[in-house]
Amino acid sequence: MSGVYLTLNAGSSSIKFAVFDAGDASSKPLIRGNVAGIGSTPAFSARSADGRALDAGALATLEGATDHEAVIALLLPWLAAQTADQPLRAIGHRVVHGGRDLAAPTRITPEVLRQIETLIPLAPLHQPHNAAAIRAVAKWRPDVPQVACFDTSFHRSQDRLAQLFALPRALSDEGIIRYGFHGLSYEYIASVLPDHLDGAARARVIVAHLGNGSSMCAMTGGKSAATSMGFTALDGLMMGRRCGALDPGVILYLMQQKGMTAEDIGTLLYKQSGLLGVSNLSNDMEVLQASAEPHAEEAIRLFCYRAASSLAGLIPAIGGLDAMVFTAGIGENSALVRGMICERLKWLGVELSDTANEGHAITISSATSRVKVLVIPTNEEAVVADACRAVLTTAQGGSALD
Ligand code: ADP
Repeated sequence: MSGVYLTLNAGSSSIKFAVFDAGDASSKPLIRGNVAGIGSTPAFSARSADGRALDAGALATLEGATDHEAVIALLLPWLAAQTADQPLRAIGHRVVHGGRDLAAPTRITPEVLRQIETLIPLAPLHQPHNAAAIRAVAKWRPDVPQVACFDTSFHRSQDRLAQLFALPRALSDEGIIRYGFHGLSYEYIASVLPDHLDGAARARVIVAHLGNGSSMCAMTGGKSAATSMGFTALDGLMMGRRCGALDPGVILYLMQQKGMTAEDIGTLLYKQSGLLGVSNLSNDMEVLQASAEPHAEEAIRLFCYRAASSLAGLIPAIGGLDAMVFTAGIGENSALVRGMICERLKWLGVELSDTANEGHAITISSATSRVKVLVIPTNEEAVVADACRAVLTTAQGGSALD
């Protein structure tokens, strides 16, 4: 099929985008870009497949681009010019939460958008922006089919036990279960694992997606068996600004003894905790690594300790460990963090080659390591583009979005 697919990943203050050739099933985008600082000082950057910085044109100043809708209004004509008006076949969105019902990539209809919006309370940092981007596209290009790809879908293969909290069953029946996130990243890693490991070596794998948001996924046969994030993207690992797993008694204490409101607690847990809260300096791992402050060092050590503990806690779901994979900003780039996490996993038979780790090789485990350790860059956009292709070719889903 000629034409292009556009993928959008709308965050609270940024929109990441990529353009793929609809006729080429490779995972390499023609263009990859980002509008950051939406709502404050917006900045645009984009590169072509060969790494060339592309001229921002009308996006250089981003005048009046105070929200996602305004940015999308400028982005769509810019893209049309870049792609020489090739037909835009579909726009695929990364949507954080699909709940129990939206378990596969779906053509967006008014009903699907309504379902996405009802899940906003479960992912308040991300879901409203995903929905805003869908609405903006519907306004400016109502003729183009939109496809939603959910970060929760990949985990729906899990056993019921991996999804349950030990809460009264009426609450589980209502949907208060562990959903898990970063599914598009895990799906991509699962799809390329056969390029790196033979069948036995990839039977039981834990993937560590370590970025601003961080989680882990234990997989058997390329399917999710358990994951560290739960009902929301707050659970599990320590993150840039999020606390990760927390004794729920702390929340009761903050409410009952310190008079904090739900909103105060939301801000504390989502925005003021994690690397930022512990270091009192930054949410950014690169900044912390460059700092001589003892609190920065403690934040890094806590991050790694908790990541190693979380990894160990996922092993019962898959009955052992043959390989682990590091991905996302920290996982792909921080030899220090990979080394500190693996140091705590030596008892499992994890042994790194320091040279390979520091050289950011694909395989960073030593030749004698019982567990293979890999570093694989993630590519969530490629999964979204593939989903556009699949949804369009099966003509799945009803009418276009009004
Ligand atoms: P997001 O979850 O927003 O997609 P990323 O996957 O881009 O985030 O990860 C961002 C994190 O990766 C930041 O903490 C950043 O400091 C970290 N990071 C990026 N490059 C490096 C590096 N060279 N060394 C250490 N950390 C890095």
